[in-house]
Amino acid sequence: MLSAQTASPGEPVIVGNRVELQLFTTLKCNLKCSYCSLGVGKILRSQKHATYSAEQLETFISTHLDDKEVYITLYGGEPTLNIRFVLDLMDRLPNCRFNMQTNGTLLHRVPNKILARLSNIMISVDGGEEVTDGYRGKGVYRKVLDNAAAIRAKTPGTLTARVTWWSGETSFEELDDLTRVFDYVYFQFAHEKGAYTPGSVAKKKAVLARLIKKFFGTGSFYPIVPIMGTVRNMVLPSRINELSAGMSQCRVSTNLLNVMPDGKIYPCPDMLYEKELLQGDIAGNWVKKSPLQPHPDMPCRQCTAYHYCRGNCMKNMHLAYVKNDTDWRTQVTEPICDLIRFMGAEVDRHDPCRWYAKAPLPIRTRLANAEIYEFCEVMP
Ligand code: SF4
Ligand code: SF4
Repeated sequence: MLSAQTASPGEPVIVGNRVELQLFTTLKCNLKCSYCSLGVGKILRSQKHATYSAEQLETFISTHLDDKEVYITLYGGEPTLNIRFVLDLMDRLPNCRFNMQTNGTLLHRVPNKILARLSNIMISVDGGEEVTDGYRGKGVYRKVLDNAAAIRAKTPGTLTARVTWWSGETSFEELDDLTRVFDYVYFQFAHEKGAYTPGSVAKKKAVLARLIKKFFGTGSFYPIVPIMGTVRNMVLPSRINELSAGMSQCRVSTNLLNVMPDGKIYPCPDMLYEKELLQGDIAGNWVKKSPLQPHPDMPCRQCTAYHYCRGNCMKNMHLAYVKNDTDWRTQVTEPICDLIRFMGAEVDRHDPCRWYAKAPLPIRTRLANAEIYEFCEVMP
């Protein structure tokens, strides 16, 4: 049973002043990543192109989100396979900020006009070359890094490596190397049973400890988002309330709308198969409050990490504690929560408040206000 399906009278559908529209411009993709989350429920490739128009989207925004700052993440499938629709959106919504989430292999085909409008490009890799090519295909890692270098001068936005952290073999050096190529590195712990053997968890903790040590020891800004976010949430807890009303940092319970190519709206991009989570429809011009809400059976409020974590991934919590999927809870949710608590303890060991008090103003400003927090899940 879901905890809150509709907004009570007077309760806002979208919480806060900003809303992210994450548009699945197509569900086609040119890669066949072995773990793609859209494979669940056979979502991938099930819809080729957006069947609603940019004009219908504009009507939806003016009807329901008129008092919000709307920003758009271009998502898929692979969004570079539907360039025509992206151009329509940018023409129709000239004041929006745009973010793109891409596998990076087709970036050389993206028109300069689009690159010039993007505030951020999230480019998926899985760690280093061997692991990335193992999951995504031979040569993908090099291709993606070459493409990122080639578009660097054509986009004013930031380039962010989006790492799904699967392998216990992913090393500190591989993640650290990405900070030399990208403006930010965002990692998310993989949502897959089997990714958290005791050996793999121990190796991930060893890498996390080194990343966190470097964050506090480098003397310059170390742009690894989940560490930035953990430190920010500990040092400046008010920021959690400003961007996601004190709830899950991915905004899934408050101000994130995922729009399928057919215009149907869901709160979480990984649960498009769950029809009971339907939240709205662009063509039908309706939307309700996110049905993916904290539930009394979730252990977050009693958790020592709650003050910086805020429920991390509602999908994982929902599957574990509302759907009571025991395998998911023990093999995915609980190991990830263990890693999050480990991260918090490691950050605490470095006295983040003292570090922040001594940090130069540009570092303090970036930690507090980086725009990247609005384009990814913040917590891992
Ligand atoms: S670590 Fe897990 S239990 Fe704790 S607050 Fe985060 S999601 Fe909830
Ligand atoms: S972090 Fe979890 S709940 Fe949030 S958008 Fe990602 S998969 Fe969905």
